[in-house]
Amino acid sequence: MRSALLAWYDATRRALPWRAPPGVRPDPWAVLVSEVMLQQTTAATVARRFPLFVQRFPTPAALAGSSLEEVLVAWQGLGYYRRARSLHACAQRLVAEHDGRVPDSLDALRALPGLGAYTAAAVAAIAFDRPVLPVDGNVARVGARLLGLALPADRVRAPVAAGLAPLAHGERPGDVAQALMELGALVCRPRAPSCSCCPVRAYCRAAGSGRARDIPARPSRRAVPVRSTMAFFLRRADGAILFRRRPDDVPLGGMIELPSSPWGEERSLDEHLAHAPAPGPWEPLPGEVRHRFTHFELRVRLARGTAGVAASGLWLAPEALSAVPVPTLTRKLLARLGVVVPHRGR
Ligand code: SF4
Repeated sequence: MRSALLAWYDATRRALPWRAPPGVRPDPWAVLVSEVMLQQTTAATVARRFPLFVQRFPTPAALAGSSLEEVLVAWQGLGYYRRARSLHACAQRLVAEHDGRVPDSLDALRALPGLGAYTAAAVAAIAFDRPVLPVDGNVARVGARLLGLALPADRVRAPVAAGLAPLAHGERPGDVAQALMELGALVCRPRAPSCSCCPVRAYCRAAGSGRARDIPARPSRRAVPVRSTMAFFLRRADGAILFRRRPDDVPLGGMIELPSSPWGEERSLDEHLAHAPAPGPWEPLPGEVRHRFTHFELRVRLARGTAGVAASGLWLAPEALSAVPVPTLTRKLLARLGVVVPHRGR
């Protein structure tokens, strides 16, 4: 199976911005950055943002020597900004403790900020050909089918890691890992696996028993907690908009947002308005903007302040927003209000 997988990978692998050409040793820093990006962002978005990011921060030292603000701005469009903070801390650790290089052992990688078990294993395998098999979502699905594990999708990673571990031993473990990821992305897709053209069909228990589409079983859906808030939009006669910076230790920490009431349970209009950044009058706008975080959904109502209201805070013209970190949530709210913020570098 290993040989079949590698032969297929050699013949069909895609040229991705973060993937080294055949026969070329990958740059470990580029591998690490790409794996952190791919944790929670689609490959299509990473393909657009990764080249600009590594051009701006080509080494751990370049990123460690930049301010967190610069890193957050460069991270815009990738979402889940906690990763940008961790990557900044990781680069500083690499400079302080590893001479500015990415270490090549699994244990040292695992000890770096922001690198969980999967990311450390992926860097160890892809960048250094260490004999480990990182199990991401694609590999978990492929592995569950190969092994015929009829478990819910959220419970297959550990048995797949154990069952496929022997594949990591032998030549080119990094390419074996990438071949499995590639197989999951191109052939063994979630809803429509193309078993008839799969290079490892002969070894696949799910295909052999006609159960490919049913494995892994769908995880039971859990209700997502909802939080509510009201965001306040205030614009001066010169066009500047009132913003504030979020505290460091909360979701979207350090980023720019419209002033808002605390995120929490549904409240009455008066309760929201008690948190307005200036005395009224405020005009509540119809509808709400919904934004999904990892563990909850935020529902945001908007209120517009009337002209002439005075408030102190961070007043920024829309043109100045390309130089500060503006998360997707703030962009969505501004778009609802007719203000478009360009991403830097696009
Ligand atoms: S044979 Fe089908 S189910 Fe099995 S690994 Fe290949 S594509 Fe996936």
